[in-house]
Amino acid sequence: MSYDGFDLSEKTAVITGGNGGIGLGFARAVAAAGADVSIWGTNAKKNAAAEAELQAINPSASATLCDVSDEAAVEEAMNGVIERYGRIDACFPNAGIGNQNQKPFFEHSTKDWQKVIDVNLHGVFYTLRAATRQMVKQGEGGSLILTSSGTAIQGSPKGQAYASTKGGMIAMMMSLSVEMARYKITSNAVIPGWVETAMTERIFGWQKFVDAVIPRIPMRRWGTPDDFGAIAVYLMSDASRWHTGDVIKIDGGFSIF
Ligand code: NAP
Repeated sequence: MSYDGFDLSEKTAVITGGNGGIGLGFARAVAAAGADVSIWGTNAKKNAAAEAELQAINPSASATLCDVSDEAAVEEAMNGVIERYGRIDACFPNAGIGNQNQKPFFEHSTKDWQKVIDVNLHGVFYTLRAATRQMVKQGEGGSLILTSSGTAIQGSPKGQAYASTKGGMIAMMMSLSVEMARYKITSNAVIPGWVETAMTERIFGWQKFVDAVIPRIPMRRWGTPDDFGAIAVYLMSDASRWHTGDVIKIDGGFSIF
């Protein structure tokens, strides 16, 4: 006998920022569990490489060029997913960019502030709005899985724009969990600890940072994108249908040490 609560066949996932890092970690796992996967990104080369990798796991996977900060592009991309797969069961608004500079807060430019908000918060709004519209129309429930960050609860010096978007995502997730429950749509956020991806490549190359942070992680290593596969499968699956409004930290123990 086997437990089939994690079977994702017949389900479709949209994963923004799915062409690399944590998003690709989500995508590999849900594709392996049987889901049709649509990954979105702005870099054609990264999209093509990730698409080929995912198609080796599940041939139905596809990549779409979409800048999530462009409202019309998000609507077009979501319509493309519906046309191709006929449905949307899970939406992972995961695309994000880091702080645009390391200047003191009082020297921060409005342009840099706006850029982070446009991708990390407006992009999440556009994506979730289009996905929930389709899920409600289908009438069979769904899963919203937002990628937040420890900065939402700990703050980020010189990174107020990024931290504000990640805190905003938690508020958006909780608001959605209440409003969407009547449609059997769950909404949860993942808080990753320090994970080896393109976003952290530079800072992980800074020895002073490594020496200061690794001793503060009880598991004594950085996270990898594949450390996020199981939570993606669980939150997308029927096994989690009563689990909503939660913030799940996957950080090697960083936040409690
Ligand atoms: P990453 O490898 O740089 O991934 C970022 C992803 O977002 C890429 O796939 C990128 O694709 C996509 N993206 C960026 N701007 C976009 C836009 N305007 N439209 C569409 N896609 C866009 O870094 P990551 O660490 O995996 O980041 C994924 C998420 O995890 C982010 O939301 C980040 O804030 C969060 N996070 C990361 C860490 C960490 O330690 N790594 C910790 C906490 C939270 P393109 O390059 O093709 O645009």
